[in-house]
Amino acid sequence: MTQTVPYIGTRGFAGERDFAGAILDGLAPDGGLYVPAQWPEAGAATAALSPGSYKDQVLALLRLFGAGRLGDAALETAAERTSQAFLKDGRTPLVQLEDDLWLLELFHGPTHAFKDMAMQMMAPLTAAALAQRDEDLLLITATSGDTGAAAVRAFGGTERIKLVVLHPHNRVSPVQRRQMTVDAPANVLNLAIEGDFDDCQRLVKTLLADDHVRAAGAVSSVNSINWGRLLGQVPYYLAAARASGVANPDFVVPTGNFGDAFAGWIARKIGGSVGHLHAAVNQNDALARALNDGVYQRTTARPSASISMDVQAPSNFERLVFEALGRDAARTEALFSTFVREGEVTLPADALKALRAEVSASSVSEAQTAAMIQTAHRRWGQVVCPHTAVGLVAALARRDAGAGPQIVLATAHAAKFPDAVEAALGTPPQAPAALAALENRPEAFAICGPQTDGVRDRVLAHRRA
Ligand SMILES: *Cc1c(COP(=O)(O)O)cnc(C)c1O
Repeated sequence: MTQTVPYIGTRGFAGERDFAGAILDGLAPDGGLYVPAQWPEAGAATAALSPGSYKDQVLALLRLFGAGRLGDAALETAAERTSQAFLKDGRTPLVQLEDDLWLLELFHGPTHAFKDMAMQMMAPLTAAALAQRDEDLLLITATSGDTGAAAVRAFGGTERIKLVVLHPHNRVSPVQRRQMTVDAPANVLNLAIEGDFDDCQRLVKTLLADDHVRAAGAVSSVNSINWGRLLGQVPYYLAAARASGVANPDFVVPTGNFGDAFAGWIARKIGGSVGHLHAAVNQNDALARALNDGVYQRTTARPSASISMDVQAPSNFERLVFEALGRDAARTEALFSTFVREGEVTLPADALKALRAEVSASSVSEAQTAAMIQTAHRRWGQVVCPHTAVGLVAALARRDAGAGPQIVLATAHAAKFPDAVEAALGTPPQAPAALAALENRPEAFAICGPQTDGVRDRVLAHRRA
């Protein structure tokens, strides 16, 4: 049975897309983010997601959210690939550190970070949606490292799709760069932009809206505002909660754009055994200040060791606010336009109360992060990446304040961030064979200046190729 699930936008767009429309669009035409017009009823979800293999759970979840019309073959491939990326030796990679503390290792996929799970699921679904429409698609994305690598390995070689990845030249770690540039499939173009990550993001925004680019065919992005990205992260919350053996464990999520944490919110919303959600941020603490002080304020992102969380305006926060406002799109729209215009907005008291009932957040300093990399090694024999360390600092502070059982998401393998780990431990982390094998291999990327014209020419040439 194929269920139709309509999607609406957080800013009032009601042109109702189906699942395929939502993932191909990325962002709603009015700038809002897609959410299902109604959340599946919790009981139905629990029934659909009753224990089975991880792959079966993914299939059930995809059908529950209306992906069934893309056809069984596409769903099977999507579920198989995300399951392969998640499981370690066929099992849920949950590691118990102490009686009431676990790490969920989300780094056993092809690029050793949690973004693999959603990207591996998205590629076959996107290809199927394009086949149904007989369309081609150009995907353009900016990356500070992990997103680009996961996108190249997921969408590389995918029919009907050309992918362009912009990374800041000499500002991603060599490990991350090689994951994008070694053996890059022909449909992938890697551009190293002479500038910083913000330049890359600005270029993507400009190109997505550019008349010449749009005239050449459909164009979209694969960033974490995409509904499909979020959905790909829901099943591991359900699997981890089950594997822990405790009822409703809290989850501590190292957070940047709030995509991963919002997936946890969805898991709970549909009846999963998920307790409180805590977003652990680094020194870029806009989200923590919004939830703790009630003022959502844009600041300039400061580079930190947990670079994938250096985010100053977490895009998925809008989905949480939309829900906290009782799905009032007009108020959501007003709030985020004020934020864009003024650089800050005070959260209304009712919204703040509702937000705090759903999620809490705390900020972790660079010194605490480095100290935790040492503590994790000494106390539990674990070599953790800086993002995971941020989560562990928050979890231990919560435990001191009386929190119960907690699962911390380990979002990347330590070997992706060798400098920070070596600085803390004195020795570099040991790289998995697949990462080590990338060293000293030829890389394919073009270096270009941050001017729109030059980048646009290369992007259009890649689309035509
Ligand atoms: C992207 C990323 C994060 C942040 O995830 P969000 O969904 O943006 O909150 C955390 N850790 C690592 C290693 C990442 O790559």
